[in-house]
Amino acid sequence: MSVSTAAATAADRSVRAPLPVLGRDVTVPLVTGGEVAYAALDYAASAPALQRVWDDVAAYAPYYGSVHRGAGYLSQLSTDLFENARRTVAGFLDCRETDQVVFTRSTTDSLNLLARALPAGCRVFVFETEHHAALLPWRHAGVTCLDAPRTPGQAVETLERALAGREPHGPALVCVTGASNVTGELWPVRELAAAAHAHGARIVLDAAQLAPHHPVSVQDLDVDWVAFSGHKLYAPFGSGVLAGRADWLRAAEPYLAGGGASRRVARRADGGVDVEWHESAARHEAGSPNVIGAHAVASACRALTEAGFDTLVAREQHLIRKVRDGLAEVPEVRVLSLFGDDAPRVGVLSFVVEGWNSSHFAAALSAEYGIGVRDGLFCAHPLVRTLLGSDPRTRGECGAPGAAPGETSLDAVRVSFGAGT
Ligand code: PLP
Repeated sequence: MSVSTAAATAADRSVRAPLPVLGRDVTVPLVTGGEVAYAALDYAASAPALQRVWDDVAAYAPYYGSVHRGAGYLSQLSTDLFENARRTVAGFLDCRETDQVVFTRSTTDSLNLLARALPAGCRVFVFETEHHAALLPWRHAGVTCLDAPRTPGQAVETLERALAGREPHGPALVCVTGASNVTGELWPVRELAAAAHAHGARIVLDAAQLAPHHPVSVQDLDVDWVAFSGHKLYAPFGSGVLAGRADWLRAAEPYLAGGGASRRVARRADGGVDVEWHESAARHEAGSPNVIGAHAVASACRALTEAGFDTLVAREQHLIRKVRDGLAEVPEVRVLSLFGDDAPRVGVLSFVVEGWNSSHFAAALSAEYGIGVRDGLFCAHPLVRTLLGSDPRTRGECGAPGAAPGETSLDAVRVSFGAGT
């Protein structure tokens, strides 16, 4: 089986997808002539909206109004929708009673918000394998970047060692992904949370790739915060979520200053301005909130819950096996993995093809077969370099995309699925 055939099997429409998505029947022209049904295998970047999400958004759109800003019918309707969305997300994530759900723009936005809410002297621990959204927001605070582990157990040991050895033993935050956006591998979140708490640290889960594929329970995993993006959860209308413990968020200066975040504002006699900020999630939601985005996220949460993750996971694992088996028949292909070939993973898989530049390979899949995949370093440069053995610390060079045609690439090709595949 060729690599392209392996990828095409993932787009096999003969088995009904558990949830319908928009754009499923788009046809695209091929360079070889004719047209073909487009196969979107890039869900890890952005997942198409579920039909149900689109229907819910379209049903509300004519009644759009401002949230928290009016006694009129449309404003009340929008406020109710926004606050109901907050409750739906809290239920979807199985939050604690006292947790706050803040609507943001994305996972990147959520983690940057949390980074602005760190208590003084807080040290942040991250593995070098993280997506840049989880690796970079903490740089203004003290960051300890941990070596890539080669087993889930090693991840826990590495974290425990680092936390135990920290000086001084002040506040600490661990930021970890639930599922890698490069390998799709699942991380031992519950064990890492236990290790963090045993050493007096808190933990935030980057669930950007986990939440679309697995149920995420804040209480069961015992994590302090969870961040995810609507556009990866079939709700591409500009919303993300940060959910979790209220205390750090309440104590922090608002992420954005402005209307909605402030309870009382007064001009001082000396010409300055006094402000009293809200203590609720609104503290970090200044400006007119994205009610359509929040409504869409809530709609996706409901659709996924009703479809049942068991069904979704079974279908996805079936596709992963098909692609893996197909790729295994091509000797030039190497599938990237940190924890080993048999490690459990969500519907995300990256590989390199010997003798091929990854961007040319991805372009050929699109132009010749109508298959859309991603190529590059996937905003996880240190991880991809480690996986390719092109880490500048060991090879003395920097793995940049765009090797010359015919050379083995220094980046990879990623195939990813979701509910509508
Ligand atoms: N974390 C992971 C694991 C991701 O895969 C991504 C996006 O690819 C992000 C964070 C950032 O998400 P966003 O671009 O929606 O902020």
